[in-house]
Parts: sequence; C-alpha cells; structure tokens
Amino acid sequence: DAYLAAMEKHRGLNAYITETPDKARSMAEAADQRRAKGEANGLMDGLPIGIKDLFCTEGVLTTAGSHILDGFKPTYESTVTANLWRHGAVMLGKLNMDEFAMGSSNETSYHGPATNPWKRRGSAQGGSDVKLVPGGSSGGSAAAVAARLAMAATGTDTGGSIRQPCAFTGTTGIKPTYGRCSRWGIVAFASSLDQAGPMARSVEDCAIMLNAMAGHDPKDSTSVDVAVPDFRKALTGDIRGLKVGIPKEYRLDGLSPEIAKLWDDGVAWLKAAGAEIKEINLPHTKYALPTYYIIAPAEASSNLARYDGVRFGLRVPGKTLDEMYELTRAAGFGKEVKRRVMIGTYVLSAGYYDAYYLKAQRLRALIARDFTEAFKDVDVILTPSTPSAAFGVDENSDDPIAMYLNDVFTVTVNLAGLPGISVPAGLDSQGLPLGLQLIGRAFDEETLFRVGQVVE
Ligand code: GLN
Repeated sequence: DAYLAAMEKHRGLNAYITETPDKARSMAEAADQRRAKGEANGLMDGLPIGIKDLFCTEGVLTTAGSHILDGFKPTYESTVTANLWRHGAVMLGKLNMDEFAMGSSNETSYHGPATNPWKRRGSAQGGSDVKLVPGGSSGGSAAAVAARLAMAATGTDTGGSIRQPCAFTGTTGIKPTYGRCSRWGIVAFASSLDQAGPMARSVEDCAIMLNAMAGHDPKDSTSVDVAVPDFRKALTGDIRGLKVGIPKEYRLDGLSPEIAKLWDDGVAWLKAAGAEIKEINLPHTKYALPTYYIIAPAEASSNLARYDGVRFGLRVPGKTLDEMYELTRAAGFGKEVKRRVMIGTYVLSAGYYDAYYLKAQRLRALIARDFTEAFKDVDVILTPSTPSAAFGVDENSDDPIAMYLNDVFTVTVNLAGLPGISVPAGLDSQGLPLGLQLIGRAFDEETLFRVGQVVE
C-alpha cells in the first residue's frame, strides 16, 4: 500500500506506463497467506517490484515504449518475470523506457520522458528548475527505484541500458553475462547483445534478485546451462589479493576531471581494501562505439520487421497490404527507431554488407579478444560507468551522436558478452550521483558483487 500510494503521489515522474494495483494487492495477499502458513520460501516473497515495459506480462499491456504496440496484451509471460513471480515477488506495474530500448535518456519513449528524481543544487546551471533525464533505456526502472516507487525493478541492457540509468540515479544495476538470464518473452532489440538484469538500491539486493531471475531456459537457445551460484555467498567483503585492471584506453581525451577523480577514488578504495591495481590495455576500445552502432541497428532492423500491423498492436488501414504495412510503420515507429531501421538495412544491404556489417563483426571479435587477454592478468576491471552525470531533458535529444557517446564505457561489455555492474560511487560538484563500473569474466558475477560491495 505504501508503494502504491507513492506511485500515485509521484506520477509526475512518469516512471510507470501502466500501474497494476489490483494485481499488486492480490499477489501481496497471496504472499501474506504463504507467510502465515510458513510457506514463504521464495527469494523475494512479498517484495514489490516494477517491470520494464520490454518484458511480456500475461494479460498486462506491454508496449516496449512504442506506439506500434498500442493495446498489445501478451498471452504469455516472459521467463524472467515468471521466475520472479515464482520467487514470490509482487508486481506494481510496467515501467517507462526508450522506444524498443533505443536511447540513453528515456526521451524516445512514445509515452514521454521519465524524469530523474535527482536535481542539481540550487545555483548550478539552472539549478533545481532543470528537469534531468534518468538515463536510458531503462529510465523508468531507475527513476522508480531511486524515488522509492519500487523496491527494485527489472531492466535490460543491450549497450548500457541498465548501468547508465543506474549511474544517473544513484542506484545499482548489473548486466549479467550473456546467456545468464533467458531472453524468452522479452521484446527483442539486438538479440546477440540483449540481456536482462536487476536494478536495485544495493549490491546485495541485486545479488538476491539476480538469483531469482537467472537460470537456464530451453526456450532460449542462447541461454546457457551453467549452475547459478548463491550470489549472496560471494558478499564476503574480502578482496585481499584480488587483481584489478585499469584500462588506459578508457582515459579518453577530454575526460571530465570529476569523472577522472571518481575513478582515482575507486582505485584508492580498492587498494586500501587489499586489492592489487594493474594498468592494462584494451587496444580496440576506440572501435567499440562505431561497432556497436552497426551491429545493434542491423539486428534491430531484422527484429522489428515483425511489426507489420497484422500480428501486434497498431494497424493503420491502407488500400493494399503494402500500403497498410507502410502506413502502420510510418505512424507506429518514432524517429530514433526509424533511424536505426534505416542504418540497419543499409549496413546489411548487398553492396555494403562487407564494408560495414562484416567489418563490425571482425572488430567485435577483436574487442572480445582484448578482454580475454586482459583477464589472464586481472580478475576484474574498474572504469567509470558514464562520461558525465545526468543531463537535462532536451539537452542532447537533437544530436544522436552526442547521445550515443553516453555509451562509450558500457557497449564494450555487451559486445564481449561479459558481466558488468554499476555501483553508486559519489556525487559530482552539482550534487548529482556518479557510478563506477566493474567488468568481470564470463559467468563471474560473484566477483562483481564482492568488489561492488566494497565500492558502494
Ligand atoms: N543507448 C544504447 C542504444 O541506444 C543502449 C541501449 C540499451 O542498452 N538498450 O542503443
């Protein structure tokens, strides 16, 4: 009831697209009954959470932040959300997001931007009057967790969409190893990069929630059949002797002094806790952003072909079938989604495939190899999560390149399929939260949780 009241009071943040109070009450009541009978065995029994609108939820509107999925109520439940309900979690509603998870500010949502509950200090750059973005694409999830409109939330991360919004809102989120969580029933953006993960108030909450979400699923052929350890057991606080890599290439020209200082602070904290710091090289880092912005649109253009006005959501009638497709897609997709579909079909077209898509695939392999080499010498890598703190609504929305630069520290991790966590690590001079990122070996989320807890 407290969460439902808070959601109502803070509707101005536009964090929720759909509220499900009836469902929340009946799920909470069932949890109470289980507790009364001593049967509350789930990891999240009775805990109220929000769900990013990219997850299909049976009988509950699922729009992926797009007009084209107007009125779409799935007849099935995504594996990840089904796992959460099996562990007793309670659903508060569906959370705002960039359209089809394409964006870094939640401004591409058809439902309008979600707002960051944090504000700049009174005197700084327009001060508390300026509305700040919560990051994206999981912007509604981050805003809801930060404003206490959910105890935790699900997110998805294709190029940073869990970690960047967590950094912008002072919350904690992990993109697990590719294959750790099932993608079944999650609206696909770029299938070789997409991964679901928890967004919460602490490393420990993320550890618990990932245990509830993860696991092999025969319905997703890329879900990996490896044991899921009890992540809470990794939270020992002991990182003595652990080797932490600091990649030179992430010290970009013009990196803001505040971000550089945050990174240095992180190094100092880990050193003080007994870790060994080593400088490492990830030589292909500079190619990561262009590689990502070829591969992700290529896969998106293929995945989004299914929105044709026949099977899901919106239909704009036309005189012929082709005209119906065209009118539906013209009206149903926003500007950023259309830009990605055009880039994607271009780089996959016969004349350009070798020059762009194939080259990007080769670079992806080299970026992954950089990490494999680095992890021969170190156990974990420390970087900033983002190149800046949260920016103002409308500040970057007209400049796609400026927007894409937000992802400079996060996309490498998705291209390599590795786990990455963002942990709140301090405030900038305007009083806004900043995050540090830890990157680990494949299926070694445990080290990220252990080290993350030392940073938080
Ligand atoms: N900002 C990136 C993009 O727009 C990443 C999005 C994501 O991780 N879903 O593609």
